Amino acid sequence: MLYLKTDEEIELLRESNLLVSKTLAEIARHIQPGITTLYLDEIAETFIRDNSAVPAFKGYNGFPKTLCTSVNDEVVHGIPSRYYLKEGDIVSVDCGVILNGWYGDGAYTFAVGEIREEVKKLIEFTKASLNEGVKEAVAGNRVGDVSYAVQSKAESGGFSVVRELVGHGLGKRLHEPPEVPNFGRKGTGPKMSKGLIICIEPMINLGRRETVQSRDGWTIRTADGKPSAHFEYAVAVKKEKADVLTTFDFVEEVLNKM
Ligand code: MG
Ligand code: MG
Repeated sequence: MLYLKTDEEIELLRESNLLVSKTLAEIARHIQPGITTLYLDEIAETFIRDNSAVPAFKGYNGFPKTLCTSVNDEVVHGIPSRYYLKEGDIVSVDCGVILNGWYGDGAYTFAVGEIREEVKKLIEFTKASLNEGVKEAVAGNRVGDVSYAVQSKAESGGFSVVRELVGHGLGKRLHEPPEVPNFGRKGTGPKMSKGLIICIEPMINLGRRETVQSRDGWTIRTADGKPSAHFEYAVAVKKEKADVLTTFDFVEEVLNKM
C-alpha cells in the first residue's frame, strides 16, 4: 500500500523539506576544524524549534539527538558527540523535522577543510548518483529504475553501494513504504504514481560495501574503515519530471562564500 499525496499535501511536505534544507545551510556556516558534532546538533535543534517545528529524529526509536552526524567511516546514524571535527574529515549530516504534522528528511556530506582527492571524488559521485536517481522518479517507472540509476552512477566511479540501509517513502510518518534501495534492476519493484513521496539517499563507500553496527546501537560504519558519503533528497513523483522538495542551494551558497 503506497500513500499518494494530494497537491495540497505535497505543498506541506515542501515546507517541511524546505526547513530541512535551511537547517543544513545553518550547519554549513559552522563546519570547520575544532567544532564538535554536538555543537552542530544544538544549532540544528534551536533553528528547527525557532521555525515552529520539532526535530523528527530526537526520540525516534530512542535516538537521542536532532541530527545524525556520521564522520569518515561512519555511514549513517552517527550520534552527535564531543568529537572535534578536524581538517580532512568528512561528515554526513542527516536532518529530520516535523512541521504541521508532515515530515522533512534530508542529508548532505560536508568536507572539513581540505580533503583528499579520492574522497572529493567519492562525494561528487554520491551526489551525482542521487541526481541520476531523481531523473527516474517519474510516474509509471518502478522503484528499481531509481535504484539501478543510483547504483550505476556510483559504481561507474569505482565506488560501492551500501546494501543494508535504503531510502523510503515519506509523509505523516518518517518511514513509509516503499523501500528505495540504492542498488537494483531496471523494471523491478513497486510502480510509482503521481503523488508518491520518496526519500532517495545513496550511501556510497570508497572501499568495500560491507558495513558493521557500532556498540552504541546506532552508528553504522564501513567494515573496512574507509570513508563513506551520504546525500538525501525528498522527491515528489510527478508525470514528466520529479519534483525535488529538498534543495542544496542554500547549503552551497554558504559553502561557496567560505
Ligand atoms: Mg535522512
Ligand atoms: Mg531518510
